Amino acid sequence: MAIPTPFMVGRVNCYLIEDDPLTLVDTGPNSGKALDCLERELAAHGRRIEDLGRIVITHQHLDHVGLLDVLARRSGAEVVALDLLAPVIEDYGAEAERDDELAEALMLRHGITRDVVTALRAVSRSFRGWGGAATVTRRLADGEALEFAGRTLRALHRPGHSPSDTIFLDEADGTLLAGDHLLHHISSNPLISRQLGGKSGEPGDGRPRALLTYLASLRETREMEISEVLPGHGDPFGDHASLIDDRFAMHERRARKIHGLLADQPMTAHEIAQSLWGNVAVTQAYLTLSEVLGHVDMLHERGQVAEQETGGVIRFEAVR
Ligand SMILES: [Zn+2]
Repeated sequence: MAIPTPFMVGRVNCYLIEDDPLTLVDTGPNSGKALDCLERELAAHGRRIEDLGRIVITHQHLDHVGLLDVLARRSGAEVVALDLLAPVIEDYGAEAERDDELAEALMLRHGITRDVVTALRAVSRSFRGWGGAATVTRRLADGEALEFAGRTLRALHRPGHSPSDTIFLDEADGTLLAGDHLLHHISSNPLISRQLGGKSGEPGDGRPRALLTYLASLRETREMEISEVLPGHGDPFGDHASLIDDRFAMHERRARKIHGLLADQPMTAHEIAQSLWGNVAVTQAYLTLSEVLGHVDMLHERGQVAEQETGGVIRFEAVR
């Protein structure tokens, strides 16, 4: 069920699992329009919100979790999420504030001016209403099985796009509910967020290395037996291994390009983003900053860049 969102990504896919309990995977954002659309889509399957017995959440982003409280209250459904994700959903306001604090500190440290940072923080606050806090009634550990009358889904933590990304594999037929861990038509952006523990890294353990975390998650997923991927956006697809190989190659190319830029002169991450994407580096400053830092982390891991700090601002230089 493709539900409208106010975000650039367009519609978000929610899935209905016709089993016992009747289950909804992801909710859509917290808006009347999304709720109306979800009700129409459910009606097309002869169902109502009140019929839901279980709601499963793939990750913390607002387009996937925003309507959760409304749906859980109306249906009385149990709410299932990865144990590390549960507190992020339950303490939504404070968690969102902490994410914004991290984003603000990172943007200033990597060369984005105070006025842009202030403007973006206001934008982020205005987006908060698309989400909301909700209670999680069942917490799954990484690797735990979620039983239905007619199937079992294995919950696997695959952080990187967000620190809470969880995929659900039906091991009997190889169907994978992937959330935004792997999308076909666009590459999942490794947006930098606070670590939540487990494979996402321990909280407070330095700057989150979202792309490195994501690549490690993709390597794990690549080795899985999967027949069909049901993604959080766009159409279902097969041959996940080839797609993952394409993504590895794309990130490799981007890292090399950034290394080339740094060969001429040391640059801040924001300057790198501007030379790659022009004005988009300002309007989408945090997203592009996350992209650049992710690729700088790839280079850093190989000893190809070093960082220098002047007056609280970091510049990267090519080492070789
Ligand atoms: Zn999404």
